Amino acid sequence: MVTRYTLLQELSAMVPDDVLVLTSIGNNSGFWGQLKDREANLFHLTMGMCSSTALGLSLALPNRKIVAVDSDGNLTLSLGVLGTIANEAPKNLTIVLMDNQNYLGSNKHAPGMPTATAGKMNLEAVAKGCGIESACTIEDAAAFRARIQAALASNGPHFIRARVEPLDTDGPKKSKRVPDPRENKYQFAGYIQKTEGVEILGSGLGGG
Ligand SMILES: [Mg+2]
Repeated sequence: MVTRYTLLQELSAMVPDDVLVLTSIGNNSGFWGQLKDREANLFHLTMGMCSSTALGLSLALPNRKIVAVDSDGNLTLSLGVLGTIANEAPKNLTIVLMDNQNYLGSNKHAPGMPTATAGKMNLEAVAKGCGIESACTIEDAAAFRARIQAALASNGPHFIRARVEPLDTDGPKKSKRVPDPRENKYQFAGYIQKTEGVEILGSGLGGG
């Protein structure tokens, strides 16, 4: 198995600036924020909301590539989204699932409570069963690189389950502050407004 940090480093070297990257709460967000400081990041997607929010964005912005970096505990809370992703079939969506088989959270020194994937649940098989044809499992950096490269260059939806170490034994140096969820929401919405020519945020003066 490989570490989450190794794979996020690989992703950071490959993802173009205009690809929207959504990260689930915990170390997916903390690590990504240190690795890739960019306006096209939406951090801290709460339990069950990472792939769901990415689906909504992918349908609203069909011409933008979107990568959701989700996690096993997070996705399992809203498993039905995989069926909706299959049925809606957004070509621009890639789900990367960091499957560490436990509820780790942030900055933990011991694995958390096991998730269902520590037992019999195989989320690649679930994704395929839901109808997402491009679903795979990777366990090393080279396979991850190849799958990300293919996903960014071809129509999705893609589902990449990465079996990662239960514990984050490595990680980035904390050299910068990752924006809090409220601050990041406005910054991200502002970036979408600027680059897509749409109005999302009102004037704040009332009256729309
Ligand atoms: Mg987990």
